[in-house]
Amino acid sequence: KPAEGTLEWLVAQGFLPAYFGGIEARLRDLRSGMLPAPAADGTGALPLGGGTDLLVQRPGTVKASAVELLYDRSALKTISMEGDVIRIGAAVTVTQLLESRLLQAHFPQLAAHGRLISSTPIRNMATVGGNLVNASPIGDLTIFLLALDAQLLLNNMGSTRTVALKDFYKGYKQLDKAPGELIEAILFVPPAHFSFEKVSKRTHLDIASVNSAAQVVTNSEGRITAAHLSAGGVGPFPKYLARTAGFLTGRRLSAEVLQAAITVMQEEISPISDARGTAEYKRLLLRQLFLAHFSGIDAAPVHQILSL
Ligand SMILES: Cc1cc2nc3c(=O)[nH]c(=O)nc-3n(C[C@H](O)[C@H](O)[C@H](O)COP(=O)(O)OP(=O)(O)OC[C@H]3O[C@@H](n4cnc5c(N)ncnc54)[C@H](O)[C@@H]3O)c2cc1C
Repeated sequence: KPAEGTLEWLVAQGFLPAYFGGIEARLRDLRSGMLPAPAADGTGALPLGGGTDLLVQRPGTVKASAVELLYDRSALKTISMEGDVIRIGAAVTVTQLLESRLLQAHFPQLAAHGRLISSTPIRNMATVGGNLVNASPIGDLTIFLLALDAQLLLNNMGSTRTVALKDFYKGYKQLDKAPGELIEAILFVPPAHFSFEKVSKRTHLDIASVNSAAQVVTNSEGRITAAHLSAGGVGPFPKYLARTAGFLTGRRLSAEVLQAAITVMQEEISPISDARGTAEYKRLLLRQLFLAHFSGIDAAPVHQILSL
């Protein structure tokens, strides 16, 4: 290939599609605000993170809209510890999460969890904010953060408020978020014990049939002093298992308690049959993932249940 005009040559030879030739100019236009201006109050601009959901689902809308590019915004790209709270900027990518020394220190299984999320090119682009706002019932980062009992810092033209992630989802793709409001950061206290599980039709490069995460704290007597659990693929939006967590809190970990908690959990989910499995199968999957969370805390009661 020629040293000069390589891109044009690659397009002319058919190695790249013709629209590649226009990408540089389009990016320049985007950055210099040549595209349709957002409404004066900012609500007309479409926030764009890595585009791995938006550009797939609504490419025409993105093309026709003013967009607010968040991916490169440095203020949204940091991961830091503030007091006893971890703060993740909304435009932090999955790759950044996985490479963060701070997060690696608090999540020993982080690399293994990360391998279950999409692929390297997608992880390089996919942002945390995008995962949360896309509101897929099986969004991996969303399920992860729900069990961390994370708080969202929302920013609407400089006016900020905080909302618990577990209160952010109101229905299928319905959020407690005003038009024009951006997620600025995600905040949570690092967990003492954390577990994330995901089952897909394929182990890698696939979205979940069911995914789940748990943060459970037990005291020296084996009593559960705090529990936060989440589940994806078992309802119209990413589910914080409030009733199950409430049932577990204060109880001593045992086979009977886990069995009873599973009954509560089955009552608070509403999976449907679809391409990823029947409703019955998803219920069974979540039961198994729930037990997997607890096998890392105390394997004996879990084995007792599994041997019944
Ligand atoms: C091939 C492929 C594989 C995938 N695999 C997985 C997977 O295994 N697990 C998984 O969970 N997901 C997966 N996804 C989905 C996607 O990659 C993630 O949901 C990703 O985190 C979305 O982030 P983004 O930055 O690309 O979002 P974008 O597409 O840029 O935006 C998504 C939505 O969020 C809004 N938005 C973005 N940032 C903000 C913000 N800060 N404030 C307010 N609104 C905002 C946008 O307006 C849009 O509505 C996959 C996608 C593809 C294409």
